[in-house]
Amino acid sequence: MPGMIKKEDIEKVRATADLYDIVSATVTLKPSGTGTYVGLCPFHDEKTPSFSVRPALGVWHCFGCGLGGDVFGYVEHQENIDFRDAVELLADKYHIELHYDKADNVPAHTGSKRARLLEANEAAQEFFVSQLMTKEALAARKLLDGRNFSQADCQRFGCGYAPQGWDNLVRYLAGKGFTQQEMLDAGLARQGQRGVYDYFRGRVTWPIRDSTGRTLGFGARKLYEDDTINAKYINTPDTQLYRKTQVLYGIDLAKSAIVKKRQAVIVEGYTDVMAMHLAGIDTAVATCGTAFGAEHAKIIRRLIADDSLGAVQLVGPLKVEGQALSSRVVFTFDGDAAGQKAAIHAFGLDAAFSTQAFVAVAEDNLDPCDLRIKRGNEAVRALIANARPLYDFVIDSAIDRFDTTYATGQMGAVKAVAPLIAQIRDRSLLDLYSRKAVRRIGVDLDIMQREVAYQRRKLNMRDEDAYAPKRRFQNNAGPSAEPAYAERGANPYANPA
Ligand code: ZN
Repeated sequence: MPGMIKKEDIEKVRATADLYDIVSATVTLKPSGTGTYVGLCPFHDEKTPSFSVRPALGVWHCFGCGLGGDVFGYVEHQENIDFRDAVELLADKYHIELHYDKADNVPAHTGSKRARLLEANEAAQEFFVSQLMTKEALAARKLLDGRNFSQADCQRFGCGYAPQGWDNLVRYLAGKGFTQQEMLDAGLARQGQRGVYDYFRGRVTWPIRDSTGRTLGFGARKLYEDDTINAKYINTPDTQLYRKTQVLYGIDLAKSAIVKKRQAVIVEGYTDVMAMHLAGIDTAVATCGTAFGAEHAKIIRRLIADDSLGAVQLVGPLKVEGQALSSRVVFTFDGDAAGQKAAIHAFGLDAAFSTQAFVAVAEDNLDPCDLRIKRGNEAVRALIANARPLYDFVIDSAIDRFDTTYATGQMGAVKAVAPLIAQIRDRSLLDLYSRKAVRRIGVDLDIMQREVAYQRRKLNMRDEDAYAPKRRFQNNAGPSAEPAYAERGANPYANPA
């Protein structure tokens, strides 16, 4: 371990680091008074901004959760690292050389561990890209060409090739001065009986980057039948840099468009991201080896969320000339289980996010990449333009499984839909969707209300109104706390106490 970072170096980093730049990399900030900016707090869930930044003073504070501090404190919380790592991270970013007190006979090496891992990933990316044009990579080029990606497209999205064999990358990185420990820590190598070996072998690779374009890890697709790893896609394991619940492939390319258009399109694969962007949907990103979850939702929401329109207006695509586009998140699902997948998403996300979520499913269940191959860029754009609200999609898919011409089919549909509607936390929406569903099924509202109330008792659901005014000064008013409605007794879905 090197000794303490010299105090004057810490102050140099503090003076150089631009708090506005650092915060706005992940939070959309808006001016609010002289020298002050506000945005949605990255450290707690909120819909109205209570997070304020004063770049000139180098301080930030959240009136919602009470966190606050200087630029180092921000980076510590944001990256989940300690003070020393935060100083090193910022020193790397601003190219400030750090000096350490009493280096404990460790050779002075410039840069922090984190910076070394970033460098190792960058070197790996260069290596994979250089390999794509080799003779061995024919299968990789064929696969990409077969998906209508030109050589220029592959360059733009960073496609590469990890050669077969065991230690091509390991030897390359060793030649660049990286230690085996660094290769392991970066998730680029595995520990074997006799030393380390390449993590990615005989696969097409895509670099997974953060929103500022730094490579954190890779996704890789199988090419050969004799691959010792069966999985079609593998990803970098979680490392100090790469956390699968927090990375989105394409976020570096899509970030500015997401902020500007207040729209994000979530697709399921690397080639789908490429197809989307090439078709003109420049807000597309994909999760990497995991389902879209709460952490991903937070990242997207911080980029698109804007309270200025009010929550109600955020719902649904507004197409009013001259008016700012309402924010929306479009999920594309392929395959027959689309309805089911959509349901899992709809009810796994928080209420405010779900109401802004839309679903796009292509005819014939084509994924965006195949849709572009078969029907062209126009069809891809139409797919996103015709997206339907997530709740509508989920409920309609459930009803569609029944023939509602007859009473038995109607009752089947009620029983299938009620557990879904019962999970909608927002009471105004719960009521709207109950009414919509009974119109489609052709039964009376009270039949649905009874069934939904029964399901809510079973699920132990509480009421929540996303559009109700927030009571700021209630200590126990967490997101799932039960609001004390005056008209509570009149709520047909209420659970008897
Ligand atoms: Zn906060």
